[in-house]
Amino acid sequence: MDRLGVPYVTPWTGEAIAPLPVTVTMVGAAYEDPVADAIARDQDGVLWVVCRGMATGKPEYAAELHPERQKATMEGFLCARCRKPAARDDRGMLWVLPFLGEPESWEGLQSAIPPMCEACAQMVPRLCPELREGHVQLRVREAELVGVRGTLYPRPDRPGVPDPDALVLYDSPGLPFVVARQVVRELRQVTVVAFSAAIH
Ligand SMILES: [Zn+2]
Repeated sequence: MDRLGVPYVTPWTGEAIAPLPVTVTMVGAAYEDPVADAIARDQDGVLWVVCRGMATGKPEYAAELHPERQKATMEGFLCARCRKPAARDDRGMLWVLPFLGEPESWEGLQSAIPPMCEACAQMVPRLCPELREGHVQLRVREAELVGVRGTLYPRPDRPGVPDPDALVLYDSPGLPFVVARQVVRELRQVTVVAFSAAIH
């Protein structure tokens, strides 16, 4: 948990993503600086944004989750707020997601929001403006890592501009052309535990 109970994954105004120059060739996107490029790649060779700054200033609840902390909690099944292991029972792992109108099904939902522990699942909706507008509690038996969300660059032989918010699956030919900011899990064998309306 961070200062003032702010969720671990929430970015702060003192933090930013470094605007490193990117080059795109037929083999993919890369940072112009080869050292920065090597450091910024994960074990799968996926290129990630480089985070700068410190968790100072104000928490930015409306912003995208902090890339490094989102990846760490998501990959480790750690609670998004306190970094303890996420809650698990016989229905699976606990996920709390914004509820902005009923989707056809929660089954197969692709989420960039990490799971939570029981205590934080009760508290976080009061802190987070997005969850305060309504949220759903799910139990999830399977949550495979399926891809990343980030900026997708067009191949050099195709016209177009970068898509700043693309979901790129690990088995997609676009994977070498993305600069990732979030990992995404696909939620399966989902049980809906509770809906909560807006808290005001
Ligand atoms: Zn927690």
